[in-house]
Amino acid sequence: MITHAIRRALQVALCFAILATFSGASDVSYTVSLDSPEQHLVQVQIILPPGPATRELQFPVWNALYQVRDFAQFVNWVRAKDRAGNSLVIRQANDSRWQLDGAADGAIVEYQVYVDSFGPFGAQLNSHHAFLNLAQVLMYPVDVRNTPLTIGFSHVPSDWHIATPLQPVSGSYSAENYDRLVDSPVEMSAFHDLSFDEAGGHFRVIIDADATDYDSAKIVGNLHKIVAAATSWMNDRPFDTYTFFYHFPRGPAGGGMEHAYSTAIDLNAATIQRSLYPFNSVTSHEFFHLWNVKRIRPQTLEPIDYTRENFTRALWFSEGVTSTAEEIIQLRAGLIEEKQFVARLGEQISELENRPAHLTQSAEESSLDAWLEGVDYYRRPERSISYYNKGELLGFMLDLAIRGASHDRASLRELFQWMNANYAKKGRFFDDSNGVREAAEAVSHADLGWFFTKYVSGREEIPWNDFLRYVGLHAEQLSISIPDPGFIASRNFDGPMSVIAVTPRGDAERAGLQVGDIITAIQGKPASEESNQQLSRLNSGETISIKIRSRGPERELQWKVAARQEISYRVSDVDHITPEQQARRAAWLKGEAETGVPAP
Ligand SMILES: [Zn+2]
Repeated sequence: MITHAIRRALQVALCFAILATFSGASDVSYTVSLDSPEQHLVQVQIILPPGPATRELQFPVWNALYQVRDFAQFVNWVRAKDRAGNSLVIRQANDSRWQLDGAADGAIVEYQVYVDSFGPFGAQLNSHHAFLNLAQVLMYPVDVRNTPLTIGFSHVPSDWHIATPLQPVSGSYSAENYDRLVDSPVEMSAFHDLSFDEAGGHFRVIIDADATDYDSAKIVGNLHKIVAAATSWMNDRPFDTYTFFYHFPRGPAGGGMEHAYSTAIDLNAATIQRSLYPFNSVTSHEFFHLWNVKRIRPQTLEPIDYTRENFTRALWFSEGVTSTAEEIIQLRAGLIEEKQFVARLGEQISELENRPAHLTQSAEESSLDAWLEGVDYYRRPERSISYYNKGELLGFMLDLAIRGASHDRASLRELFQWMNANYAKKGRFFDDSNGVREAAEAVSHADLGWFFTKYVSGREEIPWNDFLRYVGLHAEQLSISIPDPGFIASRNFDGPMSVIAVTPRGDAERAGLQVGDIITAIQGKPASEESNQQLSRLNSGETISIKIRSRGPERELQWKVAARQEISYRVSDVDHITPEQQARRAAWLKGEAETGVPAP
């Protein structure tokens, strides 16, 4: 009788022996062993080729999400040996780096890492699946970060399959370098494997979810439309195959992560059953990133520094204007109508105008400060704006400015196509906002310096109607009464939900709520990622009941939700719309420049 444990041990020995024998002499080779799904433990073996006697191995401190997450905190132990099996000395150089001696003839480094962070930016192994953002699992040998490598997976349960955009090579996978490797997520589970062809490309759709929670025909139908709309808008398809990874958990979810040849997206199952709008918008956004940020890439994000932040002024463009494109793609795909497109514009203007920091933090400063987004205080409306929000609006306004300056010969579409041709296709990176300005001026043949000085590096109020008038629209200010619970809570993403601000002399303060209190329940429901939405659905006059834990034992506080006046913006037609405005509106809604009206 062979017990499970012995069979496992034999498989490990066999598998490692094969790799040690057959891996290319000069390539780094990784084996990721899914040893203990129930304990969320992964064992990694790295075979180093011959080289310098002293080697350094670095665990990334960040990847994908612009947040330092210190992945090395999850490493349980590290050891090393030479190819004959004799132990080598490996010592820690700092909290994310190890130094190995005696490795001139190559070496084998092994370590165990705990992976249980969910979501499209995470790495998770459990008895249901493995989804790996490989930067959270794999350290890299500093001297050979840019050389080709191979990766194999062992102890994959027999009913699981492996999906990854990496190149399969005889039982394992290869990548041209470490950056490409960690830009390629891996899903291992009994997933639903779909595919389709569109615009000359081949697409895989990997869905890990309960089959009763989604309609795969509708999903594939919408993906066809999104791919067709985006590739025709860019007049480009810089890949042969592309993979969409989806998780539709019944619990908290939400978010997407872009990669050069794939995207990973998590959406709550109940949310997508109500409407595919969130599915369409996040998919359009992440798919467009394959150009904007993955290929049309700011110089400040290259080379990637895995040991610390890459500070960049360009996220207003790389993220925010990707959100502008997300709206245009959905409109071109027929997934939203003019009414929703224009309503969204009003919502985005309202969001920006209601944050006092829009007069103190520029779009570029917001980009530089992206790394502070995990800090509660930073997210307060008087401290920061969102580069997604202002960037999306700048995308819309820049589009209108280019149309005006070029007499409808160019638009945001020509700007992206110009950047694609002059940066992405030439393997060059653009000089943050200066590079965007260069492109905008090249396609419009006009000086657009004023736009960048006032609204991108500057903090001036954006005169919305000066831009919107061009397509016969105007933004109207309305004062509306909105329910106000009297406090702001942190987003409950990677920690407990806590109170980050309490309105002075308000009912919440009188009830005893204080900054720093940990919220454990709202209206009888445990605090979760969706608690902030739950708060926004309360009506003024309604009693709010919150359980907190902090000073002393858990207590329940109650008070009445108040009301506060807020400025809201509604975008609608100007009073007397001219035929020129109408023609420009029609072109604008297609995301195209030409109106068919002769230029003056
Ligand atoms: Zn994005």
